[in-house]
Amino acid sequence: MAFVEMKDVVKRYGNTISVDHLNLSIHEGEIFGLLGPNGAGKSTTINMMSGLMKLDQGSIIVDGISVEERPLDVKRLIGLVPQDLALYETMTAADNVTFFAKLYGLRGKLRKERVEEALEFVGLQDRAKETPATFSGGMKRRLNIACAIMHRPKLIIMDEPTVGIDPQSRNHILESVRTLNAMGSTIIYTSHYMEEVAAICDRVAIMEQGHVIACGTQQELRERVSSEEKIVIKTTQISAAVIDELKLHPQISNVSVNEDRIELYVSSSQQELQDILFICAKHNIIIQSLACEEPNLETLFLNLTGRKLRD
Ligand code: ADP
Repeated sequence: MAFVEMKDVVKRYGNTISVDHLNLSIHEGEIFGLLGPNGAGKSTTINMMSGLMKLDQGSIIVDGISVEERPLDVKRLIGLVPQDLALYETMTAADNVTFFAKLYGLRGKLRKERVEEALEFVGLQDRAKETPATFSGGMKRRLNIACAIMHRPKLIIMDEPTVGIDPQSRNHILESVRTLNAMGSTIIYTSHYMEEVAAICDRVAIMEQGHVIACGTQQELRERVSSEEKIVIKTTQISAAVIDELKLHPQISNVSVNEDRIELYVSSSQQELQDILFICAKHNIIIQSLACEEPNLETLFLNLTGRKLRD
């Protein structure tokens, strides 16, 4: 039996359906990624899984326990790192973690040890006596992780934990996900960043408009992608004329501009590269760099939905 089993789960807000007959099976011991654009229904899904939100329909079982019937028992198994920070700004870092430790019923020496262990794990042991008001966004996020893992939960759920933080904290968090998993926790990690999910997750479910539109190991998902390659041209001289001409080329699809990059898809870079270079030269575009990327999760999302992940 799967460690987490969601069957036919539905959640509505008024007339909007946020999670639409969703099915998911997550195995014990894996790092499972929920990938999808903003609004796809990732947070709603994990909030229901954690017993924070009621489902309108369907069932969720975590480690053999029904979330609807025994939400408190499920909450004890889970460490949730929510999207919005949940910290007391006027309490010290150590007191914040202690507050959560008390909620989980930890006492005395064990509680003190676990608080120290959690702060050390997220690299904040030297700041234990300071309040989060003085912390950077990344440090606050790491403190929130310490609060969520101090009771050594079997299942750790992280909801977009790297949004809006510095690269150093981001790397620290990704590394800590791997370590927590190696120490025995099953991890569910939501993100709209394809690169993060690709870097750390064993299996991935891609969500869009409340549905899972694809699910499998990264290898399985890559095999579903058509053989299109992505070409990225970096230049500071993007003009409407060059974009229009690239779009008119019959073998080039999905031409778009992303800051100083032109991104497009071709079935074979070997065949179309000369044409692309010719069009750029014709419009006097000086190319700073050019990269051809193999199909990835982003390509799969584009193929399945006709949209880009970060639209
Ligand atoms: P994600 O985490 O993938 O960004 P969410 O689960 O937050 O997606 O949202 C899914 C959909 O549900 C969105 O259309 C969002 O606007 C809607 N939604 C989420 N929370 C609420 C709420 N409290 N009230 C009304 N609509 C909501």
